[in-house]
Amino acid sequence: MKHLIRQPAYDLNDRPFMIIWETTNACDLACRHCRAEAIPNQDPFALTTKEAKQLLEQVESFGKPRPIFIFTGGDPFKRTDLFDLLAYGKELGLAMAVSPSGTPLLNEANLRRVKEHGAKAISLSIDGSTPERHDDFRQVPGSFDLTTKGWQTARKIGLKLQLNTTVTRYNLEDLPEIFRLVLEYGAMTWSAFFLVPTGRGKAEDEVSPAEYEAVMHFLYDCSKYISAKTTEGHHYKRVVLQRAILDEKGLAVEDYFNLHPIYYQLREAMQKIAAEKNLQPKEAIRRTPMHINAGNGFVFVSRRGEVFPSGFMPVQVGNVREKSLVQIYREAPLFNDLRDPSKFEGRCGLCEFVGVCGGSRSRAYALTGDPLAEEPFCTYEPGTFPFQAELEARLNGHTLPVEA
Ligand code: SF4
Repeated sequence: MKHLIRQPAYDLNDRPFMIIWETTNACDLACRHCRAEAIPNQDPFALTTKEAKQLLEQVESFGKPRPIFIFTGGDPFKRTDLFDLLAYGKELGLAMAVSPSGTPLLNEANLRRVKEHGAKAISLSIDGSTPERHDDFRQVPGSFDLTTKGWQTARKIGLKLQLNTTVTRYNLEDLPEIFRLVLEYGAMTWSAFFLVPTGRGKAEDEVSPAEYEAVMHFLYDCSKYISAKTTEGHHYKRVVLQRAILDEKGLAVEDYFNLHPIYYQLREAMQKIAAEKNLQPKEAIRRTPMHINAGNGFVFVSRRGEVFPSGFMPVQVGNVREKSLVQIYREAPLFNDLRDPSKFEGRCGLCEFVGVCGGSRSRAYALTGDPLAEEPFCTYEPGTFPFQAELEARLNGHTLPVEA
């Protein structure tokens, strides 16, 4: 069995694997869950072009291999200097990606410019499999068509594409149909984002912890056909390890997990779609999850240069206008705590999976006010997985180093 959890081939205390910069909060959509609480107009206090270039220089000074730098928003296309900044990042040798919104700005001309100016990948959000479902969530008619058109254009011109789906009670049952879209249009990976109640994301939109668990098992099954991952769903790494061990032994998931009935509904629908298309599942999953977490391999910089462990944990640890991101990342006490799993509390502190999982620190903070508290939405009781010896062998050699 191959390694199941990837890890960057360098010390995450030294440099992050991924840096997300919120270029702007301007966006022509008004999505239900928006972390940035985006509005149509630019923030007059956002980093200037000169300051944004200084941020790119700070990223470059982490040294090789350099972190991946992602331009997010709001809608990065609302920044008129986006292409200038991409060109500068390219000159510095940065690996870059852009996360545009599904608006008229997501057109072929702009996507070609993104590629020409040095970005290798984009990510797009699809939260429903039909215009009605997606546009209701995004609260702007036409967004579904613009997004799927942008999706196909990106594929046509050779940009890598990550598709993001925010899992909420509004689209839980629609996930197999979104899986169908991923099969039909193709994507580098499909990421299920598990809502953290920040920004416009509300706790009442979230699915229950048992439904989270069910979706993660469903994603594991999808991963036999497509590349799938989670965002803010760190215990998916635990599910991957558990399921891979069951697979290795030829054991059925239903005999070892008491899963929410929605799992069986999602799995049946997904398998039906795969059968319609004559697809056979691979023996192993196509994408092994990456072991990074808030402040631990991952850092978020706001439009004003404020530095946070993630976009979903609003605890500021510095500002790139005042101090280098390199220094902030390496020295901020909160970041150092987040990189030390021995400080995690509750079940995460006792858990045999903590070294590869650690739970969503952002959700722990959102729901308890303590970033080191246990992941509130994980249903696992430490020590209860029956194949502990097999697990220990896996955990001892769990990582597969990858280059940025
Ligand atoms: S208890 Fe915490 S560390 Fe263990 S699997 Fe759940 S979220 Fe991960």
